[in-house]
Amino acid sequence: MSTISQDDFITSICGALQYISYYHPPDFIQALHEAYQREESPAARDAMAQILINSRMCAEGHRPICQDTGIVNIFLKVGMDVRWESDTGIDDMVNEAVRRAYLDPDNPLRGSIVSDPAGKRINTGDNTPAVIHKDIVPGDKVDIIVAAKGGGSENKARFAILNPSDDIVEWVLQQVPTMGAGWCPPGILGIGIGGTAEKAMLLAKEAILEPLDMHNLQRRWPENIREELRLEIFEKVNALGIGAQGLGGLTTVLDVKIKDYPTHAASKPVALIPNCAATRHVHFTLDGSGPVDLLPPRLEDWPEITREASASTRRVQLDDIDPAVELDWQPGDTLLISGKLLTRRDAAHKRIIDLLDRNEPLPNKLDFRGRFIYYVGPVAPVGDEVVGPAGPTTATRMDKFTDELLEKTGLLGMIGKAERGPEAIKSIARHKAVYLIATGGAAYLVSKAIKKARVVAFPELGMEAVYELEVEDMPVTVAVDTRGNSIHESGPREWKMRIGNIPVVTK
Ligand code: SF4
Repeated sequence: MSTISQDDFITSICGALQYISYYHPPDFIQALHEAYQREESPAARDAMAQILINSRMCAEGHRPICQDTGIVNIFLKVGMDVRWESDTGIDDMVNEAVRRAYLDPDNPLRGSIVSDPAGKRINTGDNTPAVIHKDIVPGDKVDIIVAAKGGGSENKARFAILNPSDDIVEWVLQQVPTMGAGWCPPGILGIGIGGTAEKAMLLAKEAILEPLDMHNLQRRWPENIREELRLEIFEKVNALGIGAQGLGGLTTVLDVKIKDYPTHAASKPVALIPNCAATRHVHFTLDGSGPVDLLPPRLEDWPEITREASASTRRVQLDDIDPAVELDWQPGDTLLISGKLLTRRDAAHKRIIDLLDRNEPLPNKLDFRGRFIYYVGPVAPVGDEVVGPAGPTTATRMDKFTDELLEKTGLLGMIGKAERGPEAIKSIARHKAVYLIATGGAAYLVSKAIKKARVVAFPELGMEAVYELEVEDMPVTVAVDTRGNSIHESGPREWKMRIGNIPVVTK
């Protein structure tokens, strides 16, 4: 019998949430570094370099890896011989830990959780509640997995109940291209097979929290059907050529993890959940002897990378662009942009569209003519920071607003992450605008390019308010040019063909 106190439980989970906000798991860094060294696509290699540099900066600076600090997922295995010294329930204790971690003044994390999800969608302010899974197991300890899952990757989860004779690999290969780049590859695919609908989803989520060991598996003979499937899916998904950030390249997934469970003879449930460039989780055990003491990882495990200069990199002063002259930037060009940007996310888009539809003026005489907007919701700053980590959010969500905004406001360009849909691309071409991407999962690195920030509209929206940012040498890649050519179409197409000609070695 062991006794776990309320204080030890809350302190441990709170500390773990802070820990994973700035420390990637070392096995993820190792797998990403190996992929970076192998990568031949310059754009994908640069994106991986930014993610690795960002990761080291966060580990050193104790600031979040990504501006989306995630929805908290907690997995508890509670021993049947554990006694609790607490005046409240497990869920309340977990949520108190989340509250303390996300409101920590030394490293505040972004609150991304909204209540009333089908209605008013009000931010809860402290990132509560967590999603909590509990198992009762033999023993006198509590095993805990603390994870913070990014919305961009969670949004790409897939599920199907296949016929028993259907091919799981074929289904996965149909799904992954439809996930686009909003899940910020390279990452991990978690696959749950069997059980019931909800069990398969849970298995997939648990699978992405397992240690990465694909390279070991590639060096030995697979011992069961799950390992055979992992190898086949790993090889075939990477052969799709999607690459880091969907730019086209050799590595889309760093590992494929599979968990299974017996199922009904008539069913083959399959769930797929990706984990992103901001993979964040830690595992520990409480045995009644006090709170967990998570040791910082060795910084030597983080490679020291510098971004390589590219012949196509050019410096651009946004404030000097003449909107009357068509931009000659090509998809895949790397730019270092300086000047003034406006920010906007989902809620501000909706408000601006409503005002435009009612022919009402925009607040503070907001004028988007000839300007660029950055889809971002930054973390709150600390100390002398101008903004906290401020990476891009998924632009595809703004597609439905794009034509009206380009038409009515004279906007010149947008900066976000992931691909644009066909209608948005047509609209970009029709208005001779451009779409640029920053690297998802490199938020702290991007924030260092932001030299000034001020709220210019909708302050009540918090992290979704409209800011004016002044940036210096912010790294971006041209994703859609003024003629509607998209790197997210041409990049994977080119790399799929190239990989088709590269003999794949699995052992
Ligand atoms: S890396 Fe991408 S998907 Fe992951 S949390 Fe950050 S923005 Fe979201």
